[in-house]
Amino acid sequence: MQGKKIHQESLFIQFQLSDYVPADNFYRRLKSLLDLDFLYPTTLKYYGKEGQKSIDPVVFMKLMLVGYLENINSDRRIVISSGMRMDILYFLGYDLGQELPWHSTLSRTRKLFGEETFLELFKQVLKLCINNGMISGKRQAVDSALIPANAAKQSMVERIVMEDASVFSRELNDNIEDDPAKPKEPKSDNDEGPKNKDVAPTNQTHFSPSDPDARLTTKPGKPMRLYYRSQMSVDTASHCITYIQAFKGNEADNSSLPVILPQIAGNMADHAIQVEEILADTGYSSGKAIRALTANGMKGYIPAPGTYKSSREGEGFIYDDNYDRYTCIMGVHLPFKRIESAYNEPTVFKKIYESSISDCKNCPFKDICANKKGFKKLVDSADKPLYEYMQRRVESPRGKQMMSLRSSTVEPVFGSLINYTSLDRINTKGLKQANKCMLMAAAAYNIKKLLKCKFGPLIAAPIPAIGGLKGLFNQLFMQFIGYKHQHAVNFLTSF
Ligand code: SF4
Repeated sequence: MQGKKIHQESLFIQFQLSDYVPADNFYRRLKSLLDLDFLYPTTLKYYGKEGQKSIDPVVFMKLMLVGYLENINSDRRIVISSGMRMDILYFLGYDLGQELPWHSTLSRTRKLFGEETFLELFKQVLKLCINNGMISGKRQAVDSALIPANAAKQSMVERIVMEDASVFSRELNDNIEDDPAKPKEPKSDNDEGPKNKDVAPTNQTHFSPSDPDARLTTKPGKPMRLYYRSQMSVDTASHCITYIQAFKGNEADNSSLPVILPQIAGNMADHAIQVEEILADTGYSSGKAIRALTANGMKGYIPAPGTYKSSREGEGFIYDDNYDRYTCIMGVHLPFKRIESAYNEPTVFKKIYESSISDCKNCPFKDICANKKGFKKLVDSADKPLYEYMQRRVESPRGKQMMSLRSSTVEPVFGSLINYTSLDRINTKGLKQANKCMLMAAAAYNIKKLLKCKFGPLIAAPIPAIGGLKGLFNQLFMQFIGYKHQHAVNFLTSF
């Protein structure tokens, strides 16, 4: 006989949220694993002793985590989605019908808490991963990715315009004082007025008033726009993130590496793990970076830039290591002459090798080889021996293995962060805020790895068959959150 369900709302029901969150639910497991009580003492300094009670710091951090775990980068949507999910409410410690914090509270609290609070959370998750035997820590792959900033290139203004504004403001103040005897400040030599608006913006001439830390940059396959750069290290054994930090978009990888290495070492040293090997791409290669590896007691696998891969033999110059000189095809020696600083950098040096005018005077190749003064000058980096040493290591059979391991380790992790943990763009402004976003995204990524390692791959957990009143309630709720639940399962199983 065909049945027909008549919906009749019950006036009174008996309901317990924990009954509806299965034992193998992601958030139930996470709640049992992650203790965030450390936040109470560490964030106490941000609050006064009187006034209205703030959002619970643990609830705030859990809501932030939910955003990254669910790939939601809007505070408003985090609150709305959390209110619709029984498992998330259970994770947050809220009951059905209890009002969640207002979304603007999330943004205010994110600004209020310092970067160290978010770093502490990242380290707590890292500690759990290490304690569960997930991280070997000995070999780390380092890479960076450009993450779009929350500011448009079109909104950039000329720096000179802002300088004019400050001059105008100063003059206005002078007029308010209304002191005719006061001498007027002479106009600056640079005061040329606003430049041509058609001039393409650069970081030197323009900036974004809404996010002055964002920098204009590009790389192959990426449009020119305002970015932050995410620097990250990934453990090659487990693919867990062991370090992440926001840098300005135009900050070169090789100048960031000396800053990154001590922090990677520090994160591992907290757990008595010594980092032995660092794998990185050519962008990280520089004399300073290679020296930083040695200073931190690490062995690097970083290919040298193209200019150092080939010798000058193709140009007809043979280098003699014993005499530190080149010899040209005519048998003329170009001895080492002096060291000069390169690119106006006080720490980067180049070595100069020169022939003499008399040696080149009668050479048949003089017109195409010598300079206008009549001699040949060769310029090498003072760090050339370092590059060559590193290149020999990279080209060894083990080096080739390491290079392939690097790309298969760190690149998919960035892919996951960008596609599944809200790191497709920074939804706040400023370098410090961007750093908080990256730390949270990395913590969320590691949490998923941790739960997968501890409990196995997440499968769509069947909702327990409960009869009677509970069954009805269950049915209603699953209809309500059905899409969201499946979406969450699809996302979580993607790791
Ligand atoms: S110009 Fe001087 S350095 Fe160049 S090939 Fe002739 S002799 Fe050698």
